[in-house]
This record gives sequence, structure tokens and C-alpha cells, in this order.
Amino acid sequence: YPSLSKLGVLVAVSGGGGLVVLSDAGPFHSAYADAGQADMKKKKVVVLGTGWAGTSFLKNLKDPSYDVEVVSPRNYFAFTPLLPNVTCGTVEARSIVEPIRNIVKKKKFDTHFREAECFKIDTEKKKVYCRSSQETNLGGREEFTVDYDYLVIAMGARSNTFNTPGVVENAHFLKEVEDAQRIRRTVIDCFERASLPSVSEEERKKILHFVVVGGGPTGVEFAAELHDFVTEDLANLYPTLKNLVKITLLEAGGHILNMFDKRITAFAEEKFQRDGIDLKTGSMVVKVTDKDISTKERSTGQTQSIPYGMVVWSTGIGTRPVIMDFMKQIGQTNRRVLATDEWLRVEGCDSIYALGDCATINQRKVMEDIAAIFSKADKNKSGTLKVEDFKEVITDICERYPQVNIYLKRKQLKDFVELLRSSQGVAELDIEKFKSALSEVDTQMKNLPATAQVAAQQGTYLADCFNRMEECEKHPEGPLRFRGTGRHRFHPFRYKHLGQFAPLGGEQAAAQLPGDWVSIGHSSQWLWYSVYASKQVSWRTRMLVVSDWGRRFIFGRDSSRL
Ligand code: FAD
Repeated sequence: YPSLSKLGVLVAVSGGGGLVVLSDAGPFHSAYADAGQADMKKKKVVVLGTGWAGTSFLKNLKDPSYDVEVVSPRNYFAFTPLLPNVTCGTVEARSIVEPIRNIVKKKKFDTHFREAECFKIDTEKKKVYCRSSQETNLGGREEFTVDYDYLVIAMGARSNTFNTPGVVENAHFLKEVEDAQRIRRTVIDCFERASLPSVSEEERKKILHFVVVGGGPTGVEFAAELHDFVTEDLANLYPTLKNLVKITLLEAGGHILNMFDKRITAFAEEKFQRDGIDLKTGSMVVKVTDKDISTKERSTGQTQSIPYGMVVWSTGIGTRPVIMDFMKQIGQTNRRVLATDEWLRVEGCDSIYALGDCATINQRKVMEDIAAIFSKADKNKSGTLKVEDFKEVITDICERYPQVNIYLKRKQLKDFVELLRSSQGVAELDIEKFKSALSEVDTQMKNLPATAQVAAQQGTYLADCFNRMEECEKHPEGPLRFRGTGRHRFHPFRYKHLGQFAPLGGEQAAAQLPGDWVSIGHSSQWLWYSVYASKQVSWRTRMLVVSDWGRRFIFGRDSSRL
């Protein structure tokens, strides 16, 4: 095992007698090579970001042999799935945030937090350049550098406008806590402005027209939440205005919630229709001014101008400028996010890791394996392939990527995996069926979703690897369960999909759980309440969130403009 660190690629004989191609020795070996001399000096770990990935890494890092420095312009962790709740006062902003210093103070080893943003990473000097955050009262005046031995980049992403003119100037985003607070104030502003006696009926209708752009989970949840706020609370407080309110949801694709099961999409679309939410699919926003939104119908090319009172833009995520600069520096141009290997190490950088929304695992090795199988299939004109020719590589893919099985919908590949398990390597497969099944795996594996679930699991995984570095050094033969198999001493990162929710308003939600189990309705909303209460990062926020929900049930939402 110690010799693993000297070998780039290993080939070992598997139990079944075949050859198993092993992954390279992985990111942690080089660190160990120097560990002997560096015993006296603590390794400095710098974490950039206090979102899902950064906080989960920090919370789970237990090994006291590190000196940790956390840099983020936000001195708190925000529970983003509840941001739509904050926009309408269902929960208060402070209930979903946890001060990062509460987490830092619980650490039993040297951990420091700096409220600042990183604006440059120098891989040669192993330094990050930071300045006090421009968005806070610290005003971007203080600049400093931080040296690192290991750098953990968890800076998330920013809202994507697709360079649509006028979006940044005129639309609200729903990404940060401040965005949700601004939206809450603007909704109330619209109602108060529309109540002024000098405002004409036509102007009132315009002011009370709320437009949501993007039919993904965030846009849909916000539209549903706003509808509830209007019908359950504001309609009683502004009785003369209730019939003038209009909510429009614009989606460029053919359907909303297109990453969910078709049954959920259909239910959500029907529910929105019943609720009077104007759903416009196939409608692309081409421009936003301070008065109206211009859209273009995808099918007809027809353009339309829609007057509005408030626009919320929620069309996905884009790359932060600092990440783009870093990608240029390390030669990762023409990519949307940082590419890492399966151990979350940034490709081409020895001691830099990237996780969460700012990174993606580059499945190149798997893609190469698949391409090799395809080319073999192409050479074989008989229309069938012998399983024994590629059994190892496919078994390896299936083992390393359990998400393959989660995403698999086509029965073919399930049959194929079964066949692999049961066959002795003599069965034959239909090449065409096999190709289409594998290409599905290919697309699904490329797209690990940019969710809190992925970010949090990556943070936990990386912390676990860091925690076990020392233990591995003491037992260079590797953890017991890997001994003798010749595998890397750490498993590559494996994403475990736990399901996803889409709250649809009116105390109804849709849940898509592993195994394509779909549940829609009131019971799913209760499941949503319990899951999100249990996932809070501290007992303090859990109590606050649950009591906010209780307050809302009893007294309704607060409509004060604060
Ligand atoms: P983030 O959580 O965005 O954290 C990034 C961190 O980096 C922040 O602390 C930020 O301040 C910091 N940072 C930014 N710039 C710098 C810099 N220059 N230097 C240093 N630090 C910097 N996912 C789900 O799984 N389920 C849901 O229900 C769900 N709902 C969502 C609802 C909304 C409204 C939104 C916006 C997102 C939702 N998501 C959900 C997605 C989820 O929030 C993201 O996938 C997740 O936050 C990604 O985690 P991250 O750590 O990569 O980034």
C-alpha cells in the first residue's frame, strides 16, 4: 500500500481473475509523503465560503491537527430552501441563518473566521488575496492575503441572467437572504402604493402585477408562496385591491418543474391554473425595463410587452467572476464551473479542492471507458458483444457511481446490470440497446444537480477524508475494508440522492423520493415540514423556524414594511 503513492495507475488481479483498472493514487498521498517533516507545523486549511458546502466541511472537520481559516463575505450560514418562505414572512430571515462564529467557537482546534471576499487565488505562491466585503459596512477597504497548505473553494454561484438586458437593474433575484428581504418589502410597497388615492385603476393593475421568471423549483415555490400570501393575508388587509392582483410565471421551456416526474409537473400546472396563476410556457424574456418585460414566444417568434409591478428572476446559476479568473489561470477555460476529480480535487491543482455549486466532478475517466466500449462495439459488426470483453470496466462504473442506479429509468440498463451480476462473462448483448443505455448513464452522470444536498454531502465527505489523513498515515496499509483489494484508500465521492420537494402552495407539496416514488398533496407538505425542520443546522434555528410556522398558522403573516 505505501507504494501506492508512487504509482499513477495500478492494475491488479480481481477476485474473479479479471483485470481491474484502478483509479490513480488520489489526492491525499502527496500530502502524506511530506507529513513526517511537517509534524511540528500544523497544516493550514483555508475555506472560502460559508454556504452549504463550506459549512458542512467546517462542521464535520474534527481532526485537531489543522489550523483552519474561513473567509466569506457572509458571517452566517443561510438555509436557502426556506428563502421563498422569507419573501412573504412565513418565516423570519433571522430564523434561517446561523452565525458562523457559533460554529467556529465549538471547534476544538485553531479556527478563525474573516468576513471578507476572496478576489484572487495564486496557486504558485499558495496564497489567496482577500478584501473586506464591499457589500457590508466594512466597505472593501481592507486587503490582506492568507497562505494555505490546502484550499477548499466553496464559493457557490451567482444568479444567471443569460446577459438579458435590464435584468440586473430592474429585477429581483432570489439567491441570498437580503434578496428575500428586499422582495418582502417590495411586495408590501406595491400594495401600499396601489392603495394611494391618486393612483388610477390601470396603474393599480400594473403595480399589482407580479412576474416570476423561471419555472424551476425556486420560481415555482416563490409564485405559490406569493399566491398564498395574497389570498390568505393581504386580501383581508387590502379588500379593494384583491381582484386586481395578478401573478404571472414565465418559463422558456415547454413545462415547469421539468427536472421532476411528469406527474408532478402536470399536477403543478393544473394547480396553478386553478389558483389563477397565469402560467406562460415557451415564453422567453428578451428584455426588462423599469416598466415592462418583453417576451418572445418560442414557437411563433411573436413578441409581447408585459407591464409589471415587481419581477423576480430565477433562471438558474452562473459562475462568479473570481472563479472565472481562477479557471483561466489554471487552463480550465470554456467551462461553466471548476472541474474536479472524483476526490473533489481541482484538476491540475494538487492541494486545492472545490465543492458545491462552483464545481463539478469531471467524469472523464468514465467517459473514456464508455467511449472505449463504444468503439469496440463499432468494430464488432455482428450486432452483439461478449460481456467478458468489458465486464470489469462496467462493473467498476456501476460500483463507483451508485447514482447511476438512482437515475436509471430505462429497464434495459437495469437488466444489463443484472446480467453482469449473474453472468460468468459469456452472455452476449445487443449493441444498439447497450449503447443507448450507456449514453443515458453518460448524460446523467455529467449533471450532478447544483443543490444543497450535493454541496452538503461533498462537504461532509471532504471533511471525513481530512479527518482520516493522520489515521491513514499511521496505518499505511489502508483501512481494513479496502485492504487487499488494491483500491484507493479513500472512496471517491459518491452522491446519495435523498429525494426532492416542490412546495406548491395551499399546504400542498410534491415529493419525489428515491426509487421514483412520487407523493403529492397535503401529506407531502407535512413531510416537507418535518424534513426541513430536521435539516436545520442548529437547535436554535430549528426552534425559530418551527415557531415561525406555528405563528403563521395562528396569526397569519406579518404585512408590516420593515
Ligand atoms: P452557497 O450556499 O451559495 O455558498 C457560497 C458561499 O460562498 C457563501 O457563503 C458566500 O457568501 C461565499 N462567497 C461568495 N463569494 C465569495 C468570495 N469571493 N470569497 C469567499 N466567499 C465567497 N437545494 C436543495 O437541495 N434543496 C432545496 O430545496 C433548495 N432550495 C433552494 C432555494 C433557493 C431560493 C435557492 C437560491 C437555492 C436552493 N437550493 C436548494 C440550492 C442550494 O441553495 C445550493 O445548491 C447551495 O446553496 C450550494 O451550496 P454552496 O456551498 O456551493 O454555495
